[in-house]
This record gives sequence, C-alpha cells and structure tokens, in this order.
Amino acid sequence: MLRVENLSKSYGDERVLRDVSFEMDRGDVEVVVGPSGSGKSTLLRCVNRLTEYDSGDIYLDGDSTTGPDADVNQLRRDVGMVFQDFNLFAHLTARKNITLGLRRVKGLSKEEARSAADEHLEMVGLAAQADSYPAELSGGQKQRVGIARALAMEPKLMLFDEPTSALDPELIGEVVGVMEKLVERGMTMLVVTHEMGFARSAASTVTFLEDGNIVERGPPEQLFESPEQARTGEFLGRLD
Ligand code: ADP
Ligand code: MG
Repeated sequence: MLRVENLSKSYGDERVLRDVSFEMDRGDVEVVVGPSGSGKSTLLRCVNRLTEYDSGDIYLDGDSTTGPDADVNQLRRDVGMVFQDFNLFAHLTARKNITLGLRRVKGLSKEEARSAADEHLEMVGLAAQADSYPAELSGGQKQRVGIARALAMEPKLMLFDEPTSALDPELIGEVVGVMEKLVERGMTMLVVTHEMGFARSAASTVTFLEDGNIVERGPPEQLFESPEQARTGEFLGRLD
C-alpha cells in the first residue's frame, strides 16, 4: 500500500532523512521510534506532502505521490493525519471540526457531513461532546476529535505523529484505546510514538530511526527482545 523509496531530505546543510526505504502492506501497523530530531515527523510529513522532499519517491497503492499525475488533494483524502498538538480549529465545535473537511474536500451535503461526523464522534466515545468547543474538552478528548476528524475522511492510511505526547499521563490510555480499536478494524497505520506498550502489542513492524537513517526495522519481538543493532537496544532499553 505504501512504498517509500530512497527518501532523502535536507534543511540547509542538515540531512534530515538519508535514503529511507520501507514498504507497508494493507492492514500493517508500522511504529516509528527514535530520538528527538531524528526525522520522524519529517518522514510522516513527506508521506502526505506537507513537506516536499529532495530525492526518492513515495508510492501509495503503486502510484507515485509526486509524479506528474499525482494529485495532492486526492493524497490528502487518502492519507489522514493526527498531530501531537491536535490542530483543532478553536472557534469550531467538535462536530464542525469534522464536517468542515467533509464539506469542503469531500463535497458532502450538510446532512451527510453531520451524520458522518456524529458516527465518528461516537466511534471515539465523544457522542455527547459534539457541540463542545476545543477549550471545553480535555487533551484526550481533543485528540480523539482529531482522530475522528481524520477517520471521517475514510482514508486508506492513517499517520499519527506522537498523538499522546502532549497529554497528561492519565489521559494517554483513552487515546491509545482508540488507536487499538483502529488496529482491530484493520486500519493501515504509520505511527510515531513513545508508547512502547502500543508498539509491542499492536505493531506489525517497528522502525528505529536515528539521524535520518533506519538503524533497524523488524517485528516488535526482534527490536524489543533481540535487536540486531546495539544502538537499538540502547535506545529502547532507555525508553522502557
Ligand atoms: P523528530 O520528529 O524525529 O523529532 P523532525 O523530523 O521534526 O524530527 O526534525 C528533524 C530535524 O529537522 C531536526 O533537526 C529539526 O530541527 C529539523 N527540521 C524539521 N523541520 C524543519 C524546518 N521546517 N526547517 C528547518 N529545520 C527543520
Ligand atoms: Mg516529531
């Protein structure tokens, strides 16, 4: 479903991604871990073209996302993103945060958008908060609205960029719980997270990124129990 091929990206003299390659199949849950500044967010942002890269290519269902026939609007419909800081519109209710994209990007009618929004709010356990503004919601609730908003577009692939990093510890579980529900439903997910419990139990593959390089990539048992690279063990050992 997703093929990242020799992806490289620099900011000025700083090489942020160096020849990064990997593939994901439909239904895979790829968890990316790595120190701050290792290029994790940049990698996700290249996948949905929030950031343009220097060389390499990214294919979604076999089609280049940057070739001459690529359609960035279609890509944004196919690839949903959940941000660390939620990125909700503060002046819009939870429901309106969701209907906005459905109306503008997907062209749904008011009624269709409203019912899709309410369906997804219910899925993340926020049916009762549809008319609340972000300021009236907890961090965990805001992030669940963010997830509902991305899901309502019916993406093929979901990107999560440290979705629980801005949350108080007691609110992390409710967001991880929603992510686990998506895993159960077979959603294809590319997830940057420090939640090692989620990585161990839900990931099909874990990638350890450092200085823009994939140091090691494999099933969670390999990375957590018997890493092939000493650096992987050092990093994950420190996090656990
Ligand atoms: P991570 O998400 O792993 O913490 P990032 O992908 O955010 O890492 O950043 C990787 C490196 O790229 C960092 O050194 C960061 O300072 C740099 N960087 C990220 N975005 C920009 C930008 N828009 N302009 C300049 N440098 C950037
Ligand atoms: Mg980041």
